[in-house]
Amino acid sequence: RAHLPLPVLDVLRRLDSAGHRSWLVGGAVRDLLLGRRRATADFDVATPARPAEVMRLFPKVIPTGVEHGTVTVVLGGEHVEVTTFRGEGEYRDGRRPSSVTFHEDLEGDLERRDFTMNALAFDPVGREFRDPFGGRADMRDRLIRAVGDPGTRFGEDGLRPLRAARFAAQLGYALDPETRDAVPGALEVVRKVSAERVCQELSRLAVAPHVAGGLEVLAGTGLLEVVLPELVELEPDLRAHAFAAAAEAPPELALRLAALLHVVEPERVRGCLARLRFAKRLAEAVAQLVAEQRCLELGPPGAAEAAGSDPALRRLLSRIGVEQAEALAELWRADARSSSRAHAAAGLLSSYRRRLARVLAAKPPLSAGELALDGASIMKELGIPPGREIGQAVRHLLDHVLEDPKRNTRTRLAAELAAWWEARRTGD
Ligand code: ATP
Ligand code: MG
Repeated sequence: RAHLPLPVLDVLRRLDSAGHRSWLVGGAVRDLLLGRRRATADFDVATPARPAEVMRLFPKVIPTGVEHGTVTVVLGGEHVEVTTFRGEGEYRDGRRPSSVTFHEDLEGDLERRDFTMNALAFDPVGREFRDPFGGRADMRDRLIRAVGDPGTRFGEDGLRPLRAARFAAQLGYALDPETRDAVPGALEVVRKVSAERVCQELSRLAVAPHVAGGLEVLAGTGLLEVVLPELVELEPDLRAHAFAAAAEAPPELALRLAALLHVVEPERVRGCLARLRFAKRLAEAVAQLVAEQRCLELGPPGAAEAAGSDPALRRLLSRIGVEQAEALAELWRADARSSSRAHAAAGLLSSYRRRLARVLAAKPPLSAGELALDGASIMKELGIPPGREIGQAVRHLLDHVLEDPKRNTRTRLAAELAAWWEARRTGD
């Protein structure tokens, strides 16, 4: 069973001694019960004390959201979010309540929480556990169930259905039927959720252990139409293949997204990732993987281009770098394992990996900077100033060297450069 960090216990003790019986709440309690290691170890404490009182009790605090009752206590290297028992006023924008009311009792605070498994409270000082909505039973049944009426709760906050899908992916739980049935009616509210929050939930879903289950929730409830319409337009078989490929890919965001999107036309992938506000670098890496994997997928000629010859493989490495070339192997593997062509593809994949290792072991020059003839020397050889021609010459020499690394000597490159320049001059 996972344990509670001492500083968190200290925060609870200090609040208790000041006469405010306080509780560990939310995901931390859920994960303690599950013995689940928390990647993002955030600990939430609910207390009857008002923010001003919490700030008085602890020397180091960050006033995170005092108007909502939240103060972050920094103690022993741990950040503990201490929030005054509260309920929520009306929701106006489908995301943030327009007002909050403070409560004297824990029950009222638990009632505003999204799912029964997230509405648990634990007091490690008094050794008491509170579970007013049957969260523990739902966890035993591996069910995600809304607290209260699911339609109402989803209507208040469109993030909740997305959280449900994300928890399904993280925990391997199913949505309770009533909760699941309430999602389609809440899609318009889900559309109001900011792209950043959608991106955050989708990212966590994508790298989760039960990603296929989470994707199935998205597809089966209409959420997919809101967050990834590109996948909705696909033939069902192709979409199922993309889901399976994502599940086969290692749990890294770029790989999982590439596996999921490899069935979408490469030209649409960038737009899709930009709309979801994924970081530029990540989006580029994913788009590149999808585009390159498409080349490999085109069947025997395409496959032969990448995996078939050493020069082709060096060109690939020069184009996308070693890391991406290795990621491409992972992607290819995931694709193969989840397709009917698994057998044929597996053979090509192992030959690709063998060749990749062998080609890299020879440490071939793969970039312009590694050429035996640098830009300045090229200008000197040709007797011309910087300009478009120099760039073209560099590219030509790099291609020449990628074809055969032994050509990378000053003498041989100077000779090739002269021949290229002459052929160019005579329009050959
Ligand atoms: P994790 O931290 O592992 O992602 P979590 O359940 O702790 O999961 P947080 O976002 O840290 O998620 O939220 C802490 C708690 O606040 C939740 O357990 C839940 O009780 C409540 N909560 C969070 N978001 C919502 C929401 N949109 N609607 C209602 N309650 C919420
Ligand atoms: Mg949390």
